[in-house]
Amino acid sequence: MIYDVVIKNTEILDKNDGETYQIGIRNGRIAYIGKDPVIGKETIDGSHHLAVSGFVNAHTHVAMTLFRSYADDMALMDWLQNRIWPMEDNLTNDAVYWGSLLGIAEMIRTGTTCFADMYFFMDATARAAAESGIRAVLSRGITGPSLEEGRSRIAENTELFRNWNGHEEGRITVMYGPHAPYTCSPELLKAIAEEAGREGAEIHMHLSETAGEVKNCQNQFGKTPIALACDTGLMERGLLAAHCVYVNEEDLALMAKNHVRVAHNPQSNLKLASGVAPVSSMLEKGLVVGLGTDGASSNNNLDMLEEIRLAAMLAKVKTGNPKTVPAKEAVAMGTIQGAQALGLPRMGAIREGWKADLALYDMQEPHWFPRNDRYSLLAYAADSHDVDTVLVDGRILFRNREFTTLDIEKVCFEASRCAEKLKNH
Ligand SMILES: [Zn+2]
Repeated sequence: MIYDVVIKNTEILDKNDGETYQIGIRNGRIAYIGKDPVIGKETIDGSHHLAVSGFVNAHTHVAMTLFRSYADDMALMDWLQNRIWPMEDNLTNDAVYWGSLLGIAEMIRTGTTCFADMYFFMDATARAAAESGIRAVLSRGITGPSLEEGRSRIAENTELFRNWNGHEEGRITVMYGPHAPYTCSPELLKAIAEEAGREGAEIHMHLSETAGEVKNCQNQFGKTPIALACDTGLMERGLLAAHCVYVNEEDLALMAKNHVRVAHNPQSNLKLASGVAPVSSMLEKGLVVGLGTDGASSNNNLDMLEEIRLAAMLAKVKTGNPKTVPAKEAVAMGTIQGAQALGLPRMGAIREGWKADLALYDMQEPHWFPRNDRYSLLAYAADSHDVDTVLVDGRILFRNREFTTLDIEKVCFEASRCAEKLKNH
């Protein structure tokens, strides 16, 4: 058997045993893991490296890299209403395309192989994902105080779904993206749930991000955002809920009953002073919890290793228990639980028959010694710039710290040009 790609003599995080293995990849899948010598059309030397399943960024707005370092240290509503939304009014296809490529480059470079996005001009993000080779789950961010205002945006999401869902051999999938309970009327949420049902699509939405959002929702509609999402039919479609910082016991029960998957965004929640999500309670209830960076202007990077580390540490502070969310569980949230949160099967671990989405970490830096436990090393000591090789669907996107599908100098130049133009609009 000749494999498409062979990774030789690499350690594998999932084994965590200090042994080295050969990985054979064929047709985008991990076809062989073992000790026997194997032959590939292409060979990567994995000596002194740790193979880790690619990180899954379960919630972001990738083109918001355009607003990085533009508006910091503000409260969510002030930040949105006075800085971000006016800039977003000026967005163009061109800007979103280059902003998406910039974010995608940053993600590939830091070992992320898949992201879930919600934004505008999503055709541009889809093109960027298709060209770069990264895996993506895309949704059109739908807002509208009235149903009329929201209808054209629902239609755009449907167009996105029909044009892109399952494309690039399944590498790109599409969800519907109602923005939040404070930007969508209940009638609009119902209409989105119905349309998603007709198309057979799932939902990606911000829910219960701040205490103020929950209070306003209760005052206005007499229920929590989670209950509102349930009552408008969104949970019946399969719901990826970003944030869920303020959820009570009834909310958690409702989420568990309806198999809601959570995208926990620790760094964004800290920077906007939104709070700390009760992740250990969610995990105790059996909820799937993935990790996200949120947009680059409330983070301000797309580095999933930082989210893994923060998720582990914040859960400990929140509960006062250092045993909460141990290293292995935090890594699972950044990988296999993220894949489950996005509804993507056979992804998020290095196993035979699973998708060949993985990163190689160079373990020769001092912070990788001594090597008692590789989950601990990755979660608490590694640097995302230890990543020197990244594959998605068995295709090499980053090798010896060089991009194979992107002209990174051009991407940085064009994204900066677009950001400058938006500011001076
Ligand atoms: Zn968000």
